[in-house]
Amino acid sequence: MKRRLVFATNNAHKLEEIRAILGDRIEVLSLKDICCEADIPETADTLEGNAALKAEYIYRHYGLDCFADDTGLEVAALGGAPGIYSARYAGGEGHDSEANMRKLLHELEGQTDRRAQFRTAICLIEGGRQHLFEGIVRGEITGERHGASGFGYDPVFRPEGYGQTFAEMGNDEKNRISHRARAVQQLVAYLQEKV
Ligand code: IMP
Repeated sequence: MKRRLVFATNNAHKLEEIRAILGDRIEVLSLKDICCEADIPETADTLEGNAALKAEYIYRHYGLDCFADDTGLEVAALGGAPGIYSARYAGGEGHDSEANMRKLLHELEGQTDRRAQFRTAICLIEGGRQHLFEGIVRGEITGERHGASGFGYDPVFRPEGYGQTFAEMGNDEKNRISHRARAVQQLVAYLQEKV
């Protein structure tokens, strides 16, 4: 029988990405597919902790093997901020990318150390056991926004070794080198060893 795994997300883009990589070897179910409408709390103080909270919630309530992810932008000169607060850095309900970038550029005004990294943690729970995977892409925060594609902090993040920001690159190239792609590759390598 085909193996089933829940991905604790309803983000269509993330689901499509991982289903494309795993092909028909593993069936990946979303939260919607298992009729989970819970707003799973993300109250941990690390990316790994938040990914684990989401995966554990599903395992506890549904008894299904599952994985969850959490991503943050970590800026060296800000001591790793915004980190777990990346979505709601500028306050409010969060996910206001314009306000988040405005705050970030303001915090870094006059700062010469522009180093930053995107980091994704994935927690897989398989038969009750936890496995963690990580993907990092290093780069720097630009002085102003460049480019219009992507989302979040893409217009102000230039990955190391590239002359363009994530938002100037276009999705295909970004998705090849991104933090999320790297974490997913680790997860997939682990899963493929077993099928
Ligand atoms: P999530 O854990 O994937 O929901 O990511 C949390 C927040 O990090 C998002 O709301 C964005 O602000 C930021 N973020 C995550 N991934 C990216 C990316 O690939 N580009 C730009 N910003 C991102």
